[in-house]
Amino acid sequence: MTEIKLHNSRSRTKEVFTPLDPENVRMYVCGPTVYDRAHLGNARPVVVFDVLYRLLRHVYGAERVTYARNFTDVDDKINARAAESGRAIGEITEETISWFLEDMAELGALPPNEMPRATAYIPQMIAMIEGLIEGGHAYAAEGHVLFRVRSYKAYGGLSGRSVDDMIAGARVEVAPFKEDPMDFVLWKPSDATQPGWDSPWGYGRPGWHIECSAMSYEILGPSFDIHGGGNDLMFPHHENEIAQSCCAHPEGEFAQVWMHNEMLQVEGKKMSKSLGNFFTVRDLLDQGIPGEVIRFVFLSTHYRKPMDWTAEKARNAKNTLDHFLGLIVGVEPGVPDEEVVLALADDLNTHKALTRLHTLAKEKKADVLKASLLFLGFDLATLESGWFGEEHYDGLVPLAERLGQVRAAAMASKDFSEVDRLKSALLEAGVEVRMSKEGVELVPGPNFDPSQLEGLS
Ligand code: AMP
Ligand code: ZN
Repeated sequence: MTEIKLHNSRSRTKEVFTPLDPENVRMYVCGPTVYDRAHLGNARPVVVFDVLYRLLRHVYGAERVTYARNFTDVDDKINARAAESGRAIGEITEETISWFLEDMAELGALPPNEMPRATAYIPQMIAMIEGLIEGGHAYAAEGHVLFRVRSYKAYGGLSGRSVDDMIAGARVEVAPFKEDPMDFVLWKPSDATQPGWDSPWGYGRPGWHIECSAMSYEILGPSFDIHGGGNDLMFPHHENEIAQSCCAHPEGEFAQVWMHNEMLQVEGKKMSKSLGNFFTVRDLLDQGIPGEVIRFVFLSTHYRKPMDWTAEKARNAKNTLDHFLGLIVGVEPGVPDEEVVLALADDLNTHKALTRLHTLAKEKKADVLKASLLFLGFDLATLESGWFGEEHYDGLVPLAERLGQVRAAAMASKDFSEVDRLKSALLEAGVEVRMSKEGVELVPGPNFDPSQLEGLS
């Protein structure tokens, strides 16, 4: 069996991955708060953990992996959106969830096995909070319930910081009813305009962190294998999840391996709704950039490195995929290349996996290349059914026109050197040149490599 190594944020080292139960490998990933279209940054953890999900399914068997990713459908950002738009909360969350699933499917992300919504787990959250109060880890005050951070000695273990350091560095909310500024909200009161549920502490709604603890426990149990999310969630969200889960279920160990993707950036700053420096996945799809191209760009950077989206990266990715498609259209896929699998097994070294694809292309191992692309989550069916070809490679149309003009000029001047130069460059790039009285037709052949045409048009 392939040995998988994963970088565990908690130990800050790459560790050999040993599932608690190889018959049921369990992964939980923090999903989106659903009030608006996913921006491109939100898609990064989706693609990263989709690659991991595919690797786990490949190694342990598709039926032996359970992947859960939640939808946060109760949140003050959603309430604000409802208030400003005059729409019902349920309508907004329902619409946003369907957009999210459509957009992520375009990126080749498999749907997780479980996609729990916070609002469907309120009784479980209430039960967990009651348990925390009984155990002395939480207290009720003025309609709120707060987690008593000082009651959990290991608090801060994930990020490796002491409670006092964290207080100094964080914008913790000071409230008169808190015993300690670090204590965080498990439950808060709702007024008549806010969503709420009856609870032992009055009508109210959960704080954000408790949902992941309650839902991962219900779906995956008190101990499971992998917990993932963006590294912006490490503190406070993941520290709080650990504190809640370990105090409520001391019989378990919660997540064994913590994995965090780095941020997608715009000019050195995290892409985020609050900074306003974002564009959505749908914006890119609408511009005609296929989801596979977005996926390819994502995979070209390791998940623990920050990355920028650039139009140039998208152009290069499209040319590479075009080139690969030229080799594999109509070919029966073989088995995924062992080196591609091993690259992923080495803490998801997707960059190395993509480099290996180039070697496979060079060696004309079309069946292995095709199987490896499928393994990496590229939806070749969509691509094959018509993406490849001159009408899809925008560069050939202007080149054909230009060659036509150059040929007309050459007929007059009797100097065919420029025609010959263009023709041989096209042939070199794998394009068949058909000239007739009607004009010039450029037909990409199986070895078509658009990157060789750069600088020609
Ligand atoms: P949110 O809806 O902001 O809670 O984020 C949903 C998921 O997207 C979380 O796992 C975040 O860590 C992740 N995320 C948000 N912004 C970015 C970004 N710029 N780059 C990568 N991941 C992000
Ligand atoms: Zn979470």
